[in-house]
Amino acid sequence: MLECMILQRYENMITPEKWWIDLQFRNTLNYLSSAIYYSVNDPKGIQGDLNTFSYSEKVKISEALKNAYDKASEATALETSNKDQKNAIKKWGEVLGDYFPNSNYEKYGRDKATKKRYGRAWKRIRDKYAAEHPFCELCFDRGIIVPTEEIHHKKPLSEGGTHDRSNLIALCKSCHSHIHAKRGDYWGNRRG
Ligand SMILES: [Zn+2]
Repeated sequence: MLECMILQRYENMITPEKWWIDLQFRNTLNYLSSAIYYSVNDPKGIQGDLNTFSYSEKVKISEALKNAYDKASEATALETSNKDQKNAIKKWGEVLGDYFPNSNYEKYGRDKATKKRYGRAWKRIRDKYAAEHPFCELCFDRGIIVPTEEIHHKKPLSEGGTHDRSNLIALCKSCHSHIHAKRGDYWGNRRG
């Protein structure tokens, strides 16, 4: 659902905003805080409205987004007008918890065979997908806003999965490690 909301945002933009990650992140928070109240139509026309949150859930999510937006605004103000990098970073910390936007979504140690499958093409797909999915999709479904840190293959490449977007999901570090833990993978081994 988040994917559709973000895509609609970009489709409706006449002049594409400059890709400046923290501004983009901040503005996306603002956009989503109102967009969450509207229906999100399934672009494939199969499921109809994808926004199945109840009204009280929508209010909760909207408030969380609004709150994050306000803090992000303060952080950008500190950075740009006051040149107060230290406090800006502190503010960003309040918005993002321990996370910073879209920074480290590729830091797994992979074995050689797996690495070969991750070329430049994948990096492009991954970055595009991450830009369109600024928040962890699993956390977002629970109404929690956590920046995307890793793009995960639902079906691992080693098991015949592809880079097709239907096989991708944007995750935070914590959700990603939960998924791998459930699959019985070890840290530093056989990463998908
Ligand atoms: Zn998450």
